[in-house]
Amino acid sequence: MKQSRITHIRATPVTVPLAAPLLHSNGAHWGRFVRTIVEVETDDGYVGLGEFGGGGEVASSGIESLIGYLKGHNVFELEAMRFAICNPTASLYNNRTQLHAAIEFACLDIMGQRLGVPVAELLGGRVRDAVDFASYLFFRLPNEQTGDGEVRTSEQLVAHAKALKAEHGFKSHKLKGGVYAPDYELACYQAIAAALPKDRLRYDPNSALSLADAITFGKAIEPLNNDYFEDPVFGMPQLSRLREFVRIPIATNTVVVNFEQLAMNITNAPRAVDVILLDTTFWGGIRPCIKAAAICDTFGLGVAVHSSGELGIQLATMLHMGAVVPNLGYAADAHYHHLVDDIIVGGKMKYVDGAIKVPTGHGLGVTLDRNKLAEYHELFKQMGGYTYDRDPSRPGWYPLVPNTRWKAS
Ligand SMILES: [Mg+2]
Repeated sequence: MKQSRITHIRATPVTVPLAAPLLHSNGAHWGRFVRTIVEVETDDGYVGLGEFGGGGEVASSGIESLIGYLKGHNVFELEAMRFAICNPTASLYNNRTQLHAAIEFACLDIMGQRLGVPVAELLGGRVRDAVDFASYLFFRLPNEQTGDGEVRTSEQLVAHAKALKAEHGFKSHKLKGGVYAPDYELACYQAIAAALPKDRLRYDPNSALSLADAITFGKAIEPLNNDYFEDPVFGMPQLSRLREFVRIPIATNTVVVNFEQLAMNITNAPRAVDVILLDTTFWGGIRPCIKAAAICDTFGLGVAVHSSGELGIQLATMLHMGAVVPNLGYAADAHYHHLVDDIIVGGKMKYVDGAIKVPTGHGLGVTLDRNKLAEYHELFKQMGGYTYDRDPSRPGWYPLVPNTRWKAS
């Protein structure tokens, strides 16, 4: 078979607005996502799509400069590409894991286009045609322009959860916490549980709690329909200790994000973590996530899907991964429904009954909308970046771990 050799790598930073700024334990998404859209071109005329978080000169030059390593590389040789740009013994100097992911997405996209099959069919074939998602509830600041969208009180949070459920059909709800004091967030979580008694729940304070606060919180929510308790405290030793007190599965997207850490979690006794949230960017691509899922299956760990903030290209990678991983036992996370628009043809993908259909087109199955790309690239140029790990409503503030400097409710 004739090879498809890489000739160009092009990066375009974009800024796409969110309905309202989303608060998290380290700061906020300031009312918009900044992402870098990647296009990989081949000598036989194909263009594959990739995406990663953040954007600007450094991000663009970081990925575009990989052409020095990858010019002439055959897109079908993915295992070789990993060693060409991500040799683990060289990664102390050049950690390119997330850049590798964006190129892997694009190569898989081209392979699928050339062979006339969706990416899922290249990865073992789908075991499901749609992937369930959780609502991903955030405390929110009001939209700067309209003043709408604030989520601060438990009443606002419950109303928001119900509205998202009515609109998208979510049956599982994730509360992103670590913003307000733990007892305040506990009352909010319990309010969601009381308002939606048949639905499932998960709480993720991004490792902001002390062990004592996590024990109190965990014991209080034990009777609820919890999927898991996600990164309540920081680090495997503390997570291991926490499980001696709290009988809820513990999940992470923070301290098990590579194969070494996965091995450590499996060999340590007791295990720190029961459920690994796989992220197609953090793990370096869709294929590493599928490998990790197989290891989790072998050792009896659960698997879920992490969201690091996605537009339609990255969402497509999450859907193709979700389609082929048999042991995906939980609804996936996505920030996607907080976006007001997307850069793919047809606009935002739709949730039906809380799920999104796995694309059926060739490759990733998404196409760039060139007008939208230009529009949101222009918005990026106007607005520039922002200090992601800061809260615009608390100038000068930053958290400690465990945090004690909670936002005033
Ligand atoms: Mg998390």
